[in-house]
Amino acid sequence: MPASLSDALMNVLGQTWGAPNQLLYYPEAVRASGRFLPNRFTTSGTPVFDLPDTASATNALAAGPYILAGKDVNPVALEHEEGHVRQSQALGPLNFPSDLALKLSGVGYTENPFEARAYRREPESDERSSFFQQREQALRQRSPLVRSLLKLLGGD
Ligand SMILES: [Zn+2]
Repeated sequence: MPASLSDALMNVLGQTWGAPNQLLYYPEAVRASGRFLPNRFTTSGTPVFDLPDTASATNALAAGPYILAGKDVNPVALEHEEGHVRQSQALGPLNFPSDLALKLSGVGYTENPFEARAYRREPESDERSSFFQQREQALRQRSPLVRSLLKLLGGD
């Protein structure tokens, strides 16, 4: 199955399981963008809210099922955030508690298994991806929380 087709299929399934996230993260998308509706959609149907011009033009982040991005965001950054959107859909109602649990347990950005997974979607960052995979491996060994989250996300 082509990647875009499987992404689109996962998007439809994920939106059902992830429906609570659409409500939970919508206020954050509106607050950050100053808009009630997305500016555009990615090719797999993820709503993208443009950040105001005062934000960094190339900045991008995911808020649950939404991507918040500067107008000139590069496709690699967008693909990374698309990875976080897929994670949000995979976790469904567990998305917010998972984020919170990782924050409360002091897992930093470079140790965050969600980042390792998202960097794998970036074709141009093999080096960064292997760095995050090593960190993920180390954390997987010492944290049952991370092991459980990785199981929920599936894959290897
Ligand atoms: Zn990320």
